[in-house]
Amino acid sequence: MAEFTRIVTEESSIQCRFCAGTDISKYGKYKDNQYYICKTCGRKFSEIDTYPRMKYPREYIINALNYYYNGMSYRNINQTFEDMKDVDISKSTIWRWIVKYSKMSNEYGLRLQPKLSDTWIADETVIDIWGKKYWFWDIIDTDTRFLIASHLSRTRTQKDAKKFFHMAKLRTQTRPKKILTDKLGIYPGAFNKVFYSNLKARHVDHLTSEGFGSKTNTNLIERFHGTLKQRTKVMRDLKKPESARIVLDGFVTHYNFFMEHSYLNGKTPAAVSGIGKDIGNWGDLIDLAIWEPIENPKVMLEWEEFKVV
Ligand SMILES: [Zn+2]
Repeated sequence: MAEFTRIVTEESSIQCRFCAGTDISKYGKYKDNQYYICKTCGRKFSEIDTYPRMKYPREYIINALNYYYNGMSYRNINQTFEDMKDVDISKSTIWRWIVKYSKMSNEYGLRLQPKLSDTWIADETVIDIWGKKYWFWDIIDTDTRFLIASHLSRTRTQKDAKKFFHMAKLRTQTRPKKILTDKLGIYPGAFNKVFYSNLKARHVDHLTSEGFGSKTNTNLIERFHGTLKQRTKVMRDLKKPESARIVLDGFVTHYNFFMEHSYLNGKTPAAVSGIGKDIGNWGDLIDLAIWEPIENPKVMLEWEEFKVV
């Protein structure tokens, strides 16, 4: 007769934080915090629910990023933590979280290749940071609304436009059939330097329109510009341009991964371009960034070179 023995392992009492599965294995230890991997959904999590080397719970950090990218000021973020968790979190701590985890998430996002349509629209707008006028450049895919690349500069020269086109090419590792810009004189030269090809298969058309009088262009980009202008107010405390760059990229990440568009039937640009499947909030993105090794560091390095303000 067979004997049935119930084997109770240490792990069996642990539930996956994501799918509530109980088929769990140990996955290393950091300081006193044990990490686990779920065999059902493949995700990893830790015993104490925080990120490596962090004192406050994971939830606080995710909330801080959400509050910030939804336009809350430091004062409001601090007050919300006071009201809801009865903690007083310093300004420098909140900034550290935002910069650190935005950077990580932006870099993770860059490794995912969106499937885009064949028409992109490039554009530039003035934003105000530290009381100074900056040009914010962006290039967006028409069908998915995916924001492919952005660039921040004090000047509006052909060099700036060229840099920014290069970033779009680097980001997508592809080229569209058409790029639309306004009639600004610097665009044709910059466009030819980056996209010109003798080969028919690689040919890209440069189309210009009457700038922001044009209905298609305006409708497409204005939502992002609107939120950006409104939210750069919360960038005033950033003293270092590198931090400003990271946070600006953070807005792009937030826009691509977490902003639902009515045009996209309530979906996000990332979801429509096939890269947002497991990413529903900042927490998901940070988890992936922490647990997935970077596979494409060369692209990252090149990208960083373009990122200097
Ligand atoms: Zn699971």
